[in-house]
Amino acid sequence: MGSVLQSDQRHKVWFDMRCPKCGCQDDKVIDSRASREGATIRRRRECVGCGHRYTTYEEIERAGLVIMKRDNRREELSKEKLLSGIRKACQKRPISPKVVEDLAENIVNTVTDKYEREVPAEVIGKLVMDGLREIDEVAYVRFASVYRRFQEATDFVQEVKKLESKQ
Ligand SMILES: [Zn+2]
Repeated sequence: MGSVLQSDQRHKVWFDMRCPKCGCQDDKVIDSRASREGATIRRRRECVGCGHRYTTYEEIERAGLVIMKRDNRREELSKEKLLSGIRKACQKRPISPKVVEDLAENIVNTVTDKYEREVPAEVIGKLVMDGLREIDEVAYVRFASVYRRFQEATDFVQEVKKLESKQ
């Protein structure tokens, strides 16, 4: 079950898709339509549990851009994944969710403008670090330490692979 962007006109909130009335996660879609700009899909849903009808707005992720990892794995660029990484770094810091969302949005826009098909994972990591450094020193240090550890782990795997191929 994915996360859905629900709008109550003024506020946008990410939440796990579930019936706002009874909390049931089982629903059926009655109607779907793309927004005029094509960036979101509006869905009318009906809860299977209690029959309550509600509307969700799902953000369409930009298709096509792929993240190249250092170990040569490829992964589709997902704003949701980026957001959850940034949110983890910002946990319990006095940072508004809007600032976090804007940062993720800016990063996705930047790489989408600059790269056609593939973007190196390091570029995204660096953009997150640069962004967080401006926002909150603690969040920056948290992200940077996790990110570096991950990079070192990847380097380690690559070194092992090199050794193995020599044998
Ligand atoms: Zn329900």
